[in-house]
Amino acid sequence: MVTVEADLVCVESRLAAGLIRCPACSQGVLGGWGFARSRRVVGLAGAVRPRRARCRSCLVTHVLLPVTVLLRRAYAAEQIWMSLLVRAAGVGHRRIAARLNIPATTVRGWLRRAGRPIEAIRGWFLVVAVQTGIDVAIPDGRCCGWGDVVAAVEAAVAALGQRFGPVGLVGAVTPAQVMVAVTGGRLLAPDWPTMR
Ligand SMILES: [Zn+2]
Repeated sequence: MVTVEADLVCVESRLAAGLIRCPACSQGVLGGWGFARSRRVVGLAGAVRPRRARCRSCLVTHVLLPVTVLLRRAYAAEQIWMSLLVRAAGVGHRRIAARLNIPATTVRGWLRRAGRPIEAIRGWFLVVAVQTGIDVAIPDGRCCGWGDVVAAVEAAVAALGQRFGPVGLVGAVTPAQVMVAVTGGRLLAPDWPTMR
């Protein structure tokens, strides 16, 4: 999965200029190749219609997922990040759901998915932080897994900010966007982070 900034004009100009590298062969660059099916995402204005792209070298096609959404989730990444934040403050899924106006079963599903490999998720973001940042302060484990995950994502955001400046990795500037970009949109996918 290739994640790109939410700004479609920037994506088009990067595609046209051959600036998006192919993750399959890592040598070719991607060119425009139609669009994926559009879908509505709660929390975002208008439908999301991800760009498709094809490698000019190995000819593999890819979907360019904007950093505002996770793969196969009907809610904006920002709302999923808010749920994790509120959970880290010790709030249960029903009260999170009420606060964010999202069905409780949906929030419970996110937390179950994110909760199962919680140490792996924390580790993933810490590796990103260490590999990209300069003098990164690794947050100590706090009390609960959720707080540790949030701290690890925030460390990755800070590290990416140091390295790439405020416009950062493919337009990822907020914790929710970094969460998408760093996981290739797969944070809540069943096979993440054991497979890529
Ligand atoms: Zn390729």
